[in-house]
Amino acid sequence: MSTTQGSLSVETDALIPTWFHVGGRADRLARPRNTEELTRCLELDPELRILGEGANLLVDDAGVGGLVVSLQTDGFRSTEFDPSGVVRAGAGVALPRLINQCVKRGLSGIESLAGIPATMGGAAIMNAGGAFGELSSVVRSVSALDRAGREHTYTRSQIDFGYRRSRLNHLIVTGVELQLEPTDPEHCRAELERCMVYKTGTQPLKDKSAGCVFKNPTLAEDLTDIGAAGQRVSAGMLIDRAGGKSMRVGGASVSDVHANFFVCDADACARDVIDLIARVRRRVLDTFGVSLEREIVVWERDR
Ligand SMILES: Cc1cc2nc3c(=O)[nH]c(=O)nc-3n(C[C@H](O)[C@H](O)[C@H](O)COP(=O)(O)OP(=O)(O)OC[C@H]3O[C@@H](n4cnc5c(N)ncnc54)[C@H](O)[C@@H]3O)c2cc1C
Repeated sequence: MSTTQGSLSVETDALIPTWFHVGGRADRLARPRNTEELTRCLELDPELRILGEGANLLVDDAGVGGLVVSLQTDGFRSTEFDPSGVVRAGAGVALPRLINQCVKRGLSGIESLAGIPATMGGAAIMNAGGAFGELSSVVRSVSALDRAGREHTYTRSQIDFGYRRSRLNHLIVTGVELQLEPTDPEHCRAELERCMVYKTGTQPLKDKSAGCVFKNPTLAEDLTDIGAAGQRVSAGMLIDRAGGKSMRVGGASVSDVHANFFVCDADACARDVIDLIARVRRRVLDTFGVSLEREIVVWERDR
């Protein structure tokens, strides 16, 4: 069912599609077609939540109250390609699609993010990246609205990107400007294929997951056979070495391809994933004394 707020249509009891394929629904969901409608959403609920591709998101089984907003609409999916290598993309543009368009044009810099499902808004907020680079290395600026509906543009240095984080968290990203390098399309394609070969060989891309559940931790002290104090080590390696690959709760289990990916069977529910996260975290803490920090975002009804 849907109601209208001026020109804005708001769906009630709406599905929240995520890559885990579990979790509850949104009391209200809107798909604003432009900045004016997005501003209207903020008037309705200044604490609204933005849904991207749902590729880094777990929604609790009870669903969420308040307003959920998707920017995967034409008004936020425009792209512009400048021959100088400047690319402008709306927050709702799908990263894999943008990568393909850039590769075809011989614009190099984001092909190293191949295989990461995301909208440009979600990729900017999370500073998506991996073994071959991070989005932040090619960001020139990010446009966003604050919760009062004011427009801002931040340069890369103002955003202070870090490992899977940005200073954009309380904002609503509306667009991203990238500086890519004009080069030979064949070179871009070869790099994209190299990344995809790596990803398909090391990650369970066909399973229902949200990518890495935990951030790779920085060790507080030397750990024999693991790493030295101050070193960032793989959370997947810690989980694997702690025996985590055999762990399962209900329909959720640790992937046997990559221990930092938790995967859902058809009968899984969000509670299974939440409990599995707690158990795996405990196992790594008990085994190595390392406290893992969650990378995935969890939405709960009471926040
Ligand atoms: C198979 C698979 C492989 C993956 N591999 C990688 C990888 O290699 N590297 C990596 O970094 N990640 C990886 N991920 C995780 C995921 O792809 C990234 O975190 C991605 O950036 C999430 O973007 P999204 O649009 O899906 O955001 P969502 O999951 O929808 O949202 C994540 C957070 O961003 C916020 N958000 C989204 N859009 C906006 C916006 N416009 N403004 C403000 N806030 C917003 C949401 O509110 C939420 O808090 C993988 C996931 C899967 C399923």
